[in-house]
Amino acid sequence: MNKKVVVIYSGGMDSYTVLHKAIQQGLTPYALTFDYGQRHIKEIDVARSVCKELGVEHKVIDISAINELIGGSSLTDDSIDVALGHYQEENMFTTVVPNRNMILLSLAIGYAVSIKAEKVYYGAHSGDHAIYPDCRPEFVEKMNDVAAIANYEKTEIFSPYLNSDKIGILKDGLAMGLDYGKTWTCYNGREKACGECGSCVERLEAFAANGVTDPVPYED
Ligand code: ZN
Repeated sequence: MNKKVVVIYSGGMDSYTVLHKAIQQGLTPYALTFDYGQRHIKEIDVARSVCKELGVEHKVIDISAINELIGGSSLTDDSIDVALGHYQEENMFTTVVPNRNMILLSLAIGYAVSIKAEKVYYGAHSGDHAIYPDCRPEFVEKMNDVAAIANYEKTEIFSPYLNSDKIGILKDGLAMGLDYGKTWTCYNGREKACGECGSCVERLEAFAANGVTDPVPYED
């Protein structure tokens, strides 16, 4: 039997690439999507259809109740507009959800232990470091140390793109022949991608840097 791994899979292009990486490594992925009340709910629909198509075991876990504790981010709070522009900018701090990745990784590790998976695949990358403290290598390394001792069964957090950026992830995914039309990145959960939020801007930069047109439709 193939080795099991839990893949934290949002429906976005980073985790989509990570999911395929696990498959190409001959592993059996158990995809895990968190619904934390994000307005880009479309991401979750995309994640569902991709897993169905791939025949991958997929769980969507509603953790939106935690927003009562860690709300105040523009990603989950309708009263705050989604910041437009580049991740390097100050206004992007409104997209930070307090302690989000520690919570998500913690749940994923618990899931991995319960299904006897040895690793949690996680798509953190360097493009997020400046703005999101819990995407930085030192955070992932420390979480990994904790994962090794938190349970009787050792679990490893595997972040193949920790020292890469979105451009590098896309390059790798394109080399794997992946169809990025099956991903969703925009923070605004509308019919088409907005092209203006931090997530869209970074995505479009990555496609431009790879000399490829993004297959996802954008608003004018
Ligand atoms: Zn957008």
